[in-house]
Parts: sequence; C-alpha cells; structure tokens
Amino acid sequence: MSDNNVEQTSLELTNNAEPRKKVKAVALLSGGLDSSLAVRIMLEQGVEVEAVAIKTPFCDFDCGKGCGHRVKEVASDLEIPLKTIYFGEEYLRMLKRPKFGFGSGMNPCIDCRSMMYNAAKEHMKKIDADFIVTGEVLYQRPMSQNNRALDIIEKETDTQGKVLRPLSAKSLPMTDIEKDGSVKRENLCNIVGRSRKGQLALARKFGIDDPPNAAGGCLLTDPQFSTRIRDLMQYLDDPGKVPSINDVELLKVGRHFRLSNTAKLIVGRDQNENYIMSSLVINDDIVIEAEEFPGPTSILRGKNYEDSLVEKSSQIVLRYSDSPRGHESKVRVKYHGQVNVISAFPIGNGELESLRI
Ligand code: SF4
Repeated sequence: MSDNNVEQTSLELTNNAEPRKKVKAVALLSGGLDSSLAVRIMLEQGVEVEAVAIKTPFCDFDCGKGCGHRVKEVASDLEIPLKTIYFGEEYLRMLKRPKFGFGSGMNPCIDCRSMMYNAAKEHMKKIDADFIVTGEVLYQRPMSQNNRALDIIEKETDTQGKVLRPLSAKSLPMTDIEKDGSVKRENLCNIVGRSRKGQLALARKFGIDDPPNAAGGCLLTDPQFSTRIRDLMQYLDDPGKVPSINDVELLKVGRHFRLSNTAKLIVGRDQNENYIMSSLVINDDIVIEAEEFPGPTSILRGKNYEDSLVEKSSQIVLRYSDSPRGHESKVRVKYHGQVNVISAFPIGNGELESLRI
C-alpha cells in the first residue's frame, strides 16, 4: 500500500466518523480539597467542566465549613466557570421534616445532597452536559457517603449512572460515562474512608503545595447548634411555618435562653456579636441593655411579652454586664421605638443554667 493510499484511507475514516463531541460535566465544587481534586482528574482526561457551588443557611458551601470563601479562588485556579446557587427558604422547609431523617446532629445529609444533585442536574440540562462530578469519597461521611445513601440520592434525583465520583470511582459501580469510554476508569481513583492520605498524595501529584485542611462539616453537624435549631423548630408559633433566615442567622451568635413557649432571649458574647445582633433586630423584638455599666446587646424575641419575661431577661442581661453581683441595677428596654428604664438584680447561676438552650 502506497503512502497515498494510507492518506486516502484515513481521510475516508475521518469523513465518515461521527465528530466526537467534547464530553462536558457539571462539578459540585465546595472550595475544599476533594472536589477540586475530582475536577482536576476530569480536566486531565480532557473533560470540559463547569462548577456549581451550593450555599445553604448553615454552610457556606457544600460540606466545607469555612472553605466557602475559597470556592471562587479554586474555580479560578482550575480555570472553570462557576455558578453559585443559594438554598434559602426551601432548605428550611426540607429541614423541618427531611424525608430521610437526620444524622448525629440536625444534619439531613441525604435530603441535603439530593437538593444539591438536583441543582447540578438542572445546570447539567441547561448547559447540555453529560454527567455530574462530585468530590465524594466512599465511607468518608457516615450518613451520606455509603453505598446505600449514594443509591438513594441518585434514585431520588433520577441521576442513576450520571454521577461520577472520581476519587472513589474504582470502588463504585461503573457510570454511563465510563461505560461509553468517554472517561477512562483506569485513570480514576480508589480512595475510600476517612484517612486523607490518598487525597494528599493526589494533591502532591497535581502540584498543590498547600492543600486545605479537611472540612469540619456544616453547622448542622455541630451538637450545640443542633440543640438551638431543634429548639427553634419545636417552638415555632405556627407548626406549618418555616423559620425565617433572620431567625437562623440569630442562632449563629450569642447565648440563647428559652424563657417561655413563645419567647427566647439572645445575649451577645462580644462586641462583634453585639454588632451582628443589632443588624438582626426586627420590629417586634425587645432590645435590652444595661443602662449604667458596659454590657451585651440582648434581644428578646417572640410574642406575649409579659412583664415577668422582660424582668427575667433584664436579670440575665445584668448577669453578663459589669454591674456588681447582688446589687440592683438599671436596664434600658426598647420596644417599638419606646425606651423604658427598669431595675433588676442579676440572675443566679442555677436559674441561668436551667434556661440555657
Ligand atoms: S454535612 Fe450534611 S447537611 Fe451539612 S452540607 Fe453536608 S450534606 Fe448537607
């Protein structure tokens, strides 16, 4: 066969072959190490990737506590487009009664991941992508990263076979994109469990000098915060209601005290929290502060504000102010623009603890 024939043959093949579409994926990017490694593995295989970052009221981005601010930086390092999606009220509605329950705290991981997958699926349709990529590692998290949970999440979101987890892929069933050969399974990883050795080795391979620490989990996995959110849900004045984002933001600051079925007191712990709380005051709140001594900003929130509630709140506020123990001092009570000054004694430790949420 002459050289010309060879050229002819290959020309014919090129003309007859379907032009191969570049494979495209939507990645759930958190700003943490795992999801960025997952994206790098995809980019290395020539996959075009667009990222989706999810923000909830309890977690800056995905499961990466504190790494949310990094997500833009990470997307820009990876040179991929980033879309940020915020789950607000619909997330709180889910949190009231998650179909698959809670983990060790108030973390509804299976329902939460399902919402994230749905968001990624929507974006996948919009940009005509072929599959979803996540940084999930099998058995890294007890509730949502085991075979059963991953199956449930895929069924719930109708994404069976469409979600590739490059870090654990070799320990998971083949996805559609591996089956059709567009992504080579042999170049994917087999990382399983909570140890980060595999990820750190991979980070070195990709020349990441300063990999971020392991994510600490979202606020809903924190025991103290879980107690607060449980209390908030339990005492909603209308069981059909969903807490407001403002209520949730208030859970993140201060000391919390349950004073009645309809009212609770929040007391700032430092100057920064006092500022934040001042910005969260709503119309029906009562703001109580020590009049004569430095002390915290405090918000009495709820309804049916009887005098006894205002008095108890004043005692608590004085307990955290510089007013002398055992002495009566004055507090400023501000409600609907009106200010009253009343006197109270600081509360004793025993009673204080019995009210703490
Ligand atoms: S820890 Fe669970 S509830 Fe929190 S963001 Fe991650 S998946 Fe969602």
